[in-house]
Amino acid sequence: TQQIVLAARPKGMPDADTFRFEDIEIPDLQQGEVLLKGLYYSVDPYMRGRMNDKKSYSAPFEIDKPIFGGVVAEVEDANGTDLEKGDLVTGMLPWSKKIVSAEKKLKKIDASFAPPSYYLSILGMTGLTAYFGLIHIGKPKDGETVVVSGAAGAVGIVVGQIAKIHGCRVIGIAGSDEKIEMLKGKFGFDGGINYKTTPDMKKAIAKACPDGVDIYFDNVGGEVSDAVISNINFHARIPLCGQISLYNDTEIPTGPRVQPTMVTHSVLMQGFIVSKYSDQFPEGMAQLEEWVKEEKLKFTETIIEGFDQLPEAMLSLFSGGNTGKMVVKA
Ligand code: NDP
Repeated sequence: TQQIVLAARPKGMPDADTFRFEDIEIPDLQQGEVLLKGLYYSVDPYMRGRMNDKKSYSAPFEIDKPIFGGVVAEVEDANGTDLEKGDLVTGMLPWSKKIVSAEKKLKKIDASFAPPSYYLSILGMTGLTAYFGLIHIGKPKDGETVVVSGAAGAVGIVVGQIAKIHGCRVIGIAGSDEKIEMLKGKFGFDGGINYKTTPDMKKAIAKACPDGVDIYFDNVGGEVSDAVISNINFHARIPLCGQISLYNDTEIPTGPRVQPTMVTHSVLMQGFIVSKYSDQFPEGMAQLEEWVKEEKLKFTETIIEGFDQLPEAMLSLFSGGNTGKMVVKA
């Protein structure tokens, strides 16, 4: 079978030299193992961090070893497991067309009410990130104004809709007019700002948020965040979810990120990693599933066809090539 390994650690933006395709033998199944065929592969911004040789909350990928990520797969063969041929599962698995995995590393999924790929996003890691970051740190209240950056991505689309469920006014920041129209038309956002074509973001946010910003859910960091924080309200909350605008920088630019208003307005800014809430995942999943079934939460994906497109799909996260979750279908 074919797998994709990390060939070299990138400096700045990854390129063709970062990845290598290899043909490997599929090992025999041991007791308690299954043979899987990969169906959907998740590409996520955090994977860029794992390409650096720097210990973070998840260990770096190893050189010449396969890249790992969220995968939805079908069981093709099993040796002494409860899983059977044809079952669909998800897990953190290697970028390989066929995969041998221990049963205990997998979770069986129910594809009866949602497409299987949703378990990589709205019914998986990115949905839980939106849910716990907004509910536990943002603490949305009826009538408040919520701004979310990276709004048309996997996490952002869900954040905006959960804020609407809580009675908030929601403004999304994203990188194209089509994305902004979609947020307002399909996902019920009250307004949106295209950060790529807006010359004065601080002014544009002030105009879109006449009562100021009570919650800023930050997916991008950098200058977009400076502009939002300039409009922050007394006792506002800022869940720091991600900083994609900085992930390929070789040096992190410093700037007036923490502004005087943070002090005078008693603002709470808190970073988080979704796994911090792992003991509460069953509760979060149950709530997300209920909202999806009730159609209170809608979703969209960008599905790229072809296992060989995985590196390209991952890189295009950094130029806004996705709307909703970026997924590769093998
Ligand atoms: P997305 O689906 O949002 O994909 C990334 C998007 O980021 C792109 O589509 C692009 O949209 C936008 N983007 C790329 N570069 C920039 C830039 N320089 N400035 C502003 N926007 C940019 O990814 P996810 O929803 O999976 O992740 C969103 C964020 O949440 C990331 O920062 C990620 O690392 C973080 N995250 C954190 C987790 C946690 O546990 N804390 C868990 C999961 C994700 P556009 O067209 O709008 O530019």
